[in-house]
Parts: sequence; structure tokens; C-alpha cells
Amino acid sequence: MPPTFAQLGVPESICRALERSGIEKPFEIQSAVIADAMEGRDICGRAPTGSGKTLAFGIPLIANVGQARPRRPRALILSPTRELAEQIASELRSISGPVTVAAVYGGVGYTNQRKQLQRGVDILVACPGRLEDLIDQRAVSLHEADQVVIDEADRMADMGFLPAVRRILDQTADQRQTVMFSATLDSDVAKITRDYQHRPITHEVGDATPDIRSADHRFWTVEKTERVGVCADVISATGPTIVFCRTRHGSDRLARQLTQRGVNAAAIHGGHAQNRRTRTLKEFINGQVEALIATDVAARGIHVDSVACVIHFDPPEDHKAYLHRSGRTARAGETGLVVSLIQNGQHADAKKIQKQLDLNEPITSPRPLEHSAAPARRPKPAHHHEADRADRKPNSNHQNRRSRPDRDNNRDGRRSNSNSQGQRNRSDRQGNGRGGNKSKGRPHGRPHQQTRRKPRSGASSR
Ligand code: ADP
Ligand code: MG
Repeated sequence: MPPTFAQLGVPESICRALERSGIEKPFEIQSAVIADAMEGRDICGRAPTGSGKTLAFGIPLIANVGQARPRRPRALILSPTRELAEQIASELRSISGPVTVAAVYGGVGYTNQRKQLQRGVDILVACPGRLEDLIDQRAVSLHEADQVVIDEADRMADMGFLPAVRRILDQTADQRQTVMFSATLDSDVAKITRDYQHRPITHEVGDATPDIRSADHRFWTVEKTERVGVCADVISATGPTIVFCRTRHGSDRLARQLTQRGVNAAAIHGGHAQNRRTRTLKEFINGQVEALIATDVAARGIHVDSVACVIHFDPPEDHKAYLHRSGRTARAGETGLVVSLIQNGQHADAKKIQKQLDLNEPITSPRPLEHSAAPARRPKPAHHHEADRADRKPNSNHQNRRSRPDRDNNRDGRRSNSNSQGQRNRSDRQGNGRGGNKSKGRPHGRPHQQTRRKPRSGASSR
């Protein structure tokens, strides 16, 4: 019998708030982490996407956090992307009671963030770039932050944020609790543990490597000129599809070309303003948009369930990128199709990726999709169902391996300068991560709803 939240030492008021949010029993990683974290131990956690890490670190923070003075948050949660920062803040707010939670990230104005900090924020969720900007502006000081969480540390590493993370950790209270979650605990992440954690307890749940076998992988040779048509056919046959392009420009162009062919397609990349990306993602989730045309960076951390198909329109950089992209489909026990469009001159790279991933599918000309390869089209839901929650057990077999290095990062990131204030702008590096989307479906500011409407999948919670 897994313990209850109360048995893990979670205060009664939080247990009640959790119940009101429809959360009754702790997930595995939560059972593993909460009691230790409540005691103030440093923790190193690894668990698959969707396994409930946010509450695993969030509940102990809410239970233990001190009251903040203006501009001096008591707890800090570092997130690689804006979307994830918003999601974390929104999820925690729904159970935080009197504890104040705010998120700061780049790509939006400073004024509101400064005002919030001035009013006093107990738990601050932050992307590293914007946080450093705010520190420089003296809008916030971390000296009183004695509980720190680094969420998705491997992604931070992939996105080049670890130097900033280190600078930030150096400014937090010396006597602090440091909790880190990551999809992998090796290499750079291990160095953060070595340098910043004190006798951490490691909790690992689920497989360390993603399982992409649940998807059906196809490798098709296509002429450059055929690609759009093939792509359109696949989308029409399968339903909700994420198509990966190498560049922002290429994504925009493909979205236009697909639209001309009657496919409801929209591009999502770092060149678009945050609110546009949020809107596009919502439209994809609710079925208005059939195909999301994404760069690697834009897609990083987009957690949307029920994606029927992933198309590698441009080849992935390497096998890690292939894994990362392909992991968008066949999640949580669903089926999915992954199609690689391979042009002349790209065969050797494709074979290399196949070999590295032990995928032995033949490279063929495009084939009609038989029934099994074309998952049922998702109905266009006008409403989302509560029932989804019950289906959404953390499932180690279908974890979506999170971000691996993808070079689009720089390409996307460098040009991402949506910070209107013309500040010396570290935030623009963090502006590239557009990801982290697993919606909690819980509107802000109405934390304790009776019923909880949950989108089928991730929507930005803003
Ligand atoms: P992760 O960070 O591990 O990818 P999240 O923390 O975002 O996963 O949780 C995934 C989803 O599961 C969220 O919608 C969250 O509200 C929900 N969830 C978390 N813990 C529980 C629980 N104990 N019972 C039911 N749902 C939960
Ligand atoms: Mg998470």
C-alpha cells in the first residue's frame, strides 16, 4: 500500500487542497521524495515525464517555506523554460494557500515581475536568464532563499544554462536545501550535485532511457519536391502531428505550404512572441490546428499527449535528437507513427541513427499507411475531460526522454530577442526553450476549485 500524503508528513491543509484538486494518492516519485524533502534533506531525483515531480518538490516547499520580505524570496525553483516556469507556478498556486508563488521569465515585460517581487514572493519560480537580469537590477536578492529546486537540470545543461545556474546558486543562502530533478543524473548534472548538494539522497524511478519502441518508425526516401505532399498525406491519414524542421524560416514556409494544401498547420518557434506560441500550442491541443511545425528548440519540453504522428521533415541532428523528437508521440501507452523523410544524400546519416537506436526498419519509398500505422484521429474536443487524469499514471515504459542537446538551440536562441526593454539580455538565451507544456488545466487565481477540468494534454497554463 503506498502511503497517503498525510502519512508522508504533508500538513493537513495541503492534503485538503490536493484533494480539492483531485489529487488523492501520491505518485511513486512523490512517495519517495516528499518525506525526505520535508526533513530538509538534499535530493537528487530522476523520474520520467509526467510522473509528478512538480508536486514531489513543490509540496515540501509549500509546507516548509518561510515568509518572504520584499524582494527576498525564501524558496527558488529554477526552470529551463518559460512555459515550464508558468506551469510549476500555476500548479503550486493551486495548493499553496497563503504561501505566495510567482514566476519570472524572459520574453515579457519587467514591470509586473518587479512589482510582484516588491510585494514579497515566498516561492519564486524563475528561468535563469531573467532571474539574473532582475538580480542585476536589484529587483530581487536570493540571500534569504534557503530552499532551492533545480527542475529539469539536464535540460538546463543542454540549453547552456548551467553556468548561470551556478552563479545563481552561489547567491542563495549558504545553509540551504538543494533539490534537483533531472532526466539523467550524469555528466554536468553530476557536477552540480558534487558542487552544490550536501549528502543528497538519490531517488530514481522508471527507466533511464526512453522507450521509442511503442511507436511505429518509418523511413521514406523522398525527392525534395515531394516532401510537402507526402507530409500532407501523412497528416491527413494520422491526425495530430508534430513536424520537425531545421530552421524557423523552414517551419514558417512549410506551415504555409501545408495550409495551401488544406492542412491546418501552424509553425511554432522562437521567432514568435510568447503569447503567439502559447496560442498556437493551445490550438494544437484543442484540435483547431492539426499539424504543429516546430523547430527542435520550440518543441523542447512541449508535453502534449495524443500526438498521433511525428514527422522528421528535416533530418534530426543526431540520434539523440531523433529520440527527443520521436518521443512526442506514442506516449502513455498510446500508439504513434514516426516518419523520417530522407532525401538524396541523407541516407548515410539516417542509417547511422538507425544503427545507434537499433531501429532496423528498411528505408523505402513512401508507403500508404495501413490501419495500424494510422492511429485513430483525435476528435476535435470542444471540452477536455476530467477522466484524463485517471489515465495518466506515471509510466516508466513510456517516458518521454527529455531534451538532448540540439543545435537548433543556438540558432533559435541567438535570434530570440523578444525582450522589448533592450536590456543587456541574458533572457534571450532562455527565451529559446519554448517548452515544458503539460498543462495542469487549473486556472490561475482560483486555486481550490471543486471540479477540475483537465485538458487532454499540455496547454500552456497562461
Ligand atoms: P513531471 O514534472 O514529472 O513531468 P508533473 O509534475 O508535471 O510531471 O505531473 C504530471 C501531471 O500529473 C500533472 O498534471 C499533475 O497535476 C498530475 N499529478 C501529479 N501528482 C499527482 C497525483 N499524486 N495524483 C494525480 N495526479 C497527479
Ligand atoms: Mg516537471
